[in-house]
Amino acid sequence: MKTYGHFIHGQETPAKRGETFPSIAPVNGEILGYAARGTEADVEVAVSSARAGFTYWSSLPPTQRERTLLECAEAVEVNHNRLLDLLIDESGSTIVKARYEVLYTASVLRAAAGEVRRLYGDTLPNEKPHRLSMVVREPVGVVVVISPFNAPLALLAKMTAFPLGAGNAVIAKPSEETPLIAVEFAKILHEAGLPAGVFNVVTGFGPECGEPLLKHPGVNGVAFTGSTATGIRVGQIAIQTMKRLQLELGGKNPLLVLSDMDMAEAAEIAAIGAFTHGGQICMSSSRIIVEAPHGLAFANALANKAASLYLGDLRDERTAYGPLINQRALAKVIRHVQAARESGGQILTGGDVHHGLVFQPTVVYNPPRLGECWEEETFGPVALVTEAASLEEMITIANESQYGLSAGILTNDLKRGLSAARQIRCGAVHLGTHSFQSDPMAPIGGYGMSGIGRSGGKYSIEHFTELKWISVELGETPRPF
Ligand code: NAD
Repeated sequence: MKTYGHFIHGQETPAKRGETFPSIAPVNGEILGYAARGTEADVEVAVSSARAGFTYWSSLPPTQRERTLLECAEAVEVNHNRLLDLLIDESGSTIVKARYEVLYTASVLRAAAGEVRRLYGDTLPNEKPHRLSMVVREPVGVVVVISPFNAPLALLAKMTAFPLGAGNAVIAKPSEETPLIAVEFAKILHEAGLPAGVFNVVTGFGPECGEPLLKHPGVNGVAFTGSTATGIRVGQIAIQTMKRLQLELGGKNPLLVLSDMDMAEAAEIAAIGAFTHGGQICMSSSRIIVEAPHGLAFANALANKAASLYLGDLRDERTAYGPLINQRALAKVIRHVQAARESGGQILTGGDVHHGLVFQPTVVYNPPRLGECWEEETFGPVALVTEAASLEEMITIANESQYGLSAGILTNDLKRGLSAARQIRCGAVHLGTHSFQSDPMAPIGGYGMSGIGRSGGKYSIEHFTELKWISVELGETPRPF
């Protein structure tokens, strides 16, 4: 059985204490390998490597950073199969989702390479006739990236590539559920020419490995993607040392189905939004709001589609989704469905375990609009469908959430659709499709409890650079005394 180290300063490095923890395949409980169990001592080594990496990387001409990131993208594509197998086994992804993650990773690295040349500054008009005023952009320094389990490669890559493009060094702390894929990714980037220390990975658990990173004075920025509860804790710690902070958190995303839609077609699209990766996606279309009088017709069409999904081998192209990540996640889904059922929601299909950690695709019609199933993230294949009398009421229901990550609107009526898009309080609204959309150049992030800041393209670059005002006095300094 293979034991993986951290990836520090260009090589695999065992934990200082020599401890490891297993990486377990959610599909069958098999141990895939052991990862280094990081603690404060490992964090010390990683930070000193990243500080050295930052000094070197930030001094390189942009063209060199650009070329290296392009070579990294190439290497990800060449090593497609190396990443694909780990993604399927470690995160329970289907082959289709795993393939998407690898392609997205290459594309995000290319997008970051493109941003390297766009670190623009400004010259400012100013009050003093003899002052030249400039604003320059500089990398913040060492950025810690703490990533979740659900898209363990694509999200890690997105959170890492743009800070690197801006000239920062990165230390990643991946989810304890998916440590191996992160180490493999780091190895591939290093083999492609990313210099030692520029991208380090320490593996381990939040409190004992993540928190020392958040507290370390040698770390300047934090990009966190995960649950809102953890994000709050991360923010509380990171603010003590004034780290640049980006938080991408949970969602309970509305999908609006307007009355002009063909309900069978709407159900096909909604099923992708609700059931991709078994609903373990922050932008899943989990609350579906249908304009009257089509609520039940839509819900029945979605239930038919859901009941037809094939849940087989992860390497079978037909498989819609695989297992939830662990027993705790399954218990939460069961609890939410039970709460919806007990409070009067009608389970049109599903509602139970399919096999192992795989939960049946579930459609609940008319659940009460309160309680944990409606208000909290379920992170499972559960679509809640409710009917509303008017577009105004649909928007009110959409906005009845502590979250504000992403929304979808299904309509062919551009005027009504765009008007709703402007009124929904979310970081993204997608017209003509479901709520789960991604693009390396788009600003991803949320309103309310869905987070702070935006990642992607120039928005990440802005976030992970400092602005410095430099002025030159070309005349005489005024001497009032
Ligand atoms: P999680 O919050 O349990 O863990 C996320 C990461 O935080 C992991 O690496 C974990 O080890 C680490 N962590 C936990 N406690 C910590 C601590 N005290 N200090 C430092 N680090 C700590 O989330 P998860 O279960 O891995 O992922 C699912 C969540 O992520 C969902 O809520 C989902 O909505 C969210 N998510 C959001 C986005 C987005 O773009 N907004 C994208 C994907 C996932």
